[in-house]
Amino acid sequence: MPIKPLVSIVRYQKPLESVRQALDLSKALDSLPHNASVFVKPNIVFWTMAVNFPKWGVITTSRVIEDVVTILKERGAGKITIGEGVVVSDPKDKKTPAHAFESLGYGKLAKRFGVKAVNVMDEPFVKVDVGDGDTLKFCSHAVEADLVLDVPVLKTHNQTVVSLGIKNLKGTIDIPSRKKCHSADPDKNLHWWVARLADKLPPVVTVIDGIYTLERGPAFDGKVHRSNLLVASKDVLSVDKVGAAILGYQPEEVPHLRFAAENRGRVADLSDVEIVGESLAEVTMPHGHDFAYSVTDEGEMPAPLAKQGIKGLYYRKYDLSMCTYCSALNGLLLTAIRAAWQGGPFDKVEVLTGKSMEPAPGMNKTILVGQCMVKANKKHPNIKEAILIKGCPPNVDEVVAALNKAGIQANSTLFDKRDELPGFFMARYAGKPEYEEAHFTVE
Ligand code: SF4
Repeated sequence: MPIKPLVSIVRYQKPLESVRQALDLSKALDSLPHNASVFVKPNIVFWTMAVNFPKWGVITTSRVIEDVVTILKERGAGKITIGEGVVVSDPKDKKTPAHAFESLGYGKLAKRFGVKAVNVMDEPFVKVDVGDGDTLKFCSHAVEADLVLDVPVLKTHNQTVVSLGIKNLKGTIDIPSRKKCHSADPDKNLHWWVARLADKLPPVVTVIDGIYTLERGPAFDGKVHRSNLLVASKDVLSVDKVGAAILGYQPEEVPHLRFAAENRGRVADLSDVEIVGESLAEVTMPHGHDFAYSVTDEGEMPAPLAKQGIKGLYYRKYDLSMCTYCSALNGLLLTAIRAAWQGGPFDKVEVLTGKSMEPAPGMNKTILVGQCMVKANKKHPNIKEAILIKGCPPNVDEVVAALNKAGIQANSTLFDKRDELPGFFMARYAGKPEYEEAHFTVE
């Protein structure tokens, strides 16, 4: 009978010792070659220099990164590179990723351990065939390392159900490749691409950081829990299956895990995994992943907008083809619409996002968000009046004018101060000592 991959589940109790226990129990680093070069991949899904914002459940704790680096050094690792492709609204912005790395203490780790922290976006990429001739461009440091040490957060995700070890590797590919992953092709959709991210990389050891866990991730508007868990394995599919189960999803309910299992000739359920440490049943804590939408004759929109009483707005739920830049703008647009609503119905305004949506008949105004929607639909016969927000990233300066043109009197201050909005979410954590800022620094 084949040996099942080991996955450890450990309660986080103490700096260094808990991560060591998770790695020891899972034997994940037992075959690390001496002097191995290691690419450490945290999850830094978002950063802003403008304000302090909630990092709990959003970003990998520096606590776990420091512990992982310490243990790698103890075990004789050679060159260690910490790398993340931080997405910022202006692709030329180099200061924000540098600020993220410094704030998270990676500079201190560089001094103490000689590690190097790199913004993946500034480094060379190499084209990799992920199967069937389909290619993505990966950070050369990840591809050329002896080992990838993948340190995602234990979180759910509004498009991919969970975002764990495999999904975290999306941060190692370049921007065109990320857009490719959000393809409009229903056969090769986001799930299909994400399932292949680990396939051609060096061996991937994963430590899922569940000190904080997140519902409706990936970003700071989700719901955070202090969960004190670590999950580790040298098999990235197995650790993701267990991570998904902890979050309340059977692995086969997560499309990219189902595809990844198929690609490896494995079952999608947990029957081919051996769990050590804590029992799965005792640590399982269902986390929602999706945002509720309301569809009535008077409108279609996220449930909070419908609850507010908004009518005459047809804002369909985002699909898998909407990528990061448009996702960020989507949240801002919805906030602006909520703030602009004065009590009367809007004039049958439809808002379309991503790459796949088609305009519905019977609308008076159709706002097309981003260059993909503009290109796909600006001449669509169902549209009475097309209002365009061009560009990729979509041009934020055009948004207020677009909303005004649709009869939605949006306030431009919201857009001018958009970098400060994440700071408002900090109020949720005031007076709650279990949410420790210190987990995101290195002493
Ligand atoms: S316009 Fe939006 S959906 Fe299209 S590639 Fe850019 S971010 Fe993605």
